[in-house]
Amino acid sequence: MKRKRSEQLFKQAACCIPGGVNSPVRAFASVGGSPLFLERARGSRVFDADRNSYLDYVMSWGALVLGHAHPLVLTKLKQAMDKGTSFGAPTEKEIVFARKICAAVPSIDKLRMVSSGTEATMSAIRLARGYTGKDKIIKFEGCYHGSVDSLLVKAGSGQATLGIPTSLGVSKALAEDTLVCPYNDISTFRAIVEKHRGSIAGCILEPVCGNMGVVLPEDGFLEQVREITAKENIVLIFDEVITGFRFCYGGVQNIFKVIPDLTCLGKIIGGGLPCAAYGGKEEIMDCIAPQGSVYQAGTLSGNPLAVTAGLATLEILETMDYKALAEKAAGLCLGLEQVLSDSGLAFSLNRFGSMFTVFFSREKIRDFSSAKTSDTVIYGKYFWSMLEQGINLAPSQFEANFVSFSHSREDCEATVRACAGFCLKHKEK
Ligand code: PMP
Repeated sequence: MKRKRSEQLFKQAACCIPGGVNSPVRAFASVGGSPLFLERARGSRVFDADRNSYLDYVMSWGALVLGHAHPLVLTKLKQAMDKGTSFGAPTEKEIVFARKICAAVPSIDKLRMVSSGTEATMSAIRLARGYTGKDKIIKFEGCYHGSVDSLLVKAGSGQATLGIPTSLGVSKALAEDTLVCPYNDISTFRAIVEKHRGSIAGCILEPVCGNMGVVLPEDGFLEQVREITAKENIVLIFDEVITGFRFCYGGVQNIFKVIPDLTCLGKIIGGGLPCAAYGGKEEIMDCIAPQGSVYQAGTLSGNPLAVTAGLATLEILETMDYKALAEKAAGLCLGLEQVLSDSGLAFSLNRFGSMFTVFFSREKIRDFSSAKTSDTVIYGKYFWSMLEQGINLAPSQFEANFVSFSHSREDCEATVRACAGFCLKHKEK
């Protein structure tokens, strides 16, 4: 497959955009080579600048559960566009949209719209601090919540220690207010809470992780985190930027029946446009300006085009069969497991509903340290082999792949065949 035009564009982009991309994972750094420059997309397929077509499992990083360019969403967007693109004033549609989300997600009495997942988590954390009058935050290793200063932090050495920055530019003082706990490790969580009793404002986590690859919460983990945080007056924040409306009409909290104090949403609720939200208990949400004293604002918050795309998406999702979507993904994963098992390659596949990761590791992947046992060199070979065969997977071992309503049975079969092709080539070497 030729990729000459994409390669040329990447070189041009690097002269005016740092690293040639507007978000780091897009650069393919962890699989090597240069990224595809895309021109258009429809349903389950993306088309690059060299006119190649690929079956897509990135799906705008999980935003497009209906598939690319859903015709109904596009029609509504075109109609909305004729009325203006941004008012910086309230609109009636925002109420309809907010009511719809409040009705679907059990933890949300009220919500505030923003433009990105990062803005949602950053604001939820400020709100947790403002509401409780405390400063420290607990996050979990391997969970990603956007490029928020307080959350670009990893664990120091030893258990229950203060966090250290993972990015230049994050002040030590800010990082020290973030405590980092291994995912699925309730005893360390308990120890952290005990050690810092009375100073922890909030605890944020992905209720199903997508950002170290797909990792599921073990039985009782979310329930125990809920129980401890409730007892200690710690605001529990579920980051459902990926999981919101991904597995059912609502959050994954509807499935686990664990209800946080605040929930962050993004991706799917924007229908492919920049839209996100954070919401929760009325008592906490009313602390936000202008009602309360926790300041948060945005020129493009509740933007009419973003709200239109989001609302149209939710209206369609209300009628969709999520069980069938999960079954489609399960069938695909079963096929992948069969060909990978036959090849003798060490792998471990995690799936929840319509998202999955093939980890090239023999271990069961249940947290960040087990995820890191994966062979990223083999992942790079797998990624490129699949791409050559027309399958666009996440360009990193530590990401989720997304099956959308637009993926067909034939798409899934083609994906399994491509994986068999990779296995065959890998064996021959
Ligand atoms: N939270 C989670 C769980 C995410 O996966 C992401 C983005 N991948 C974010 C927050 C940040 O969202 P955004 O990129 O829209 O700022």
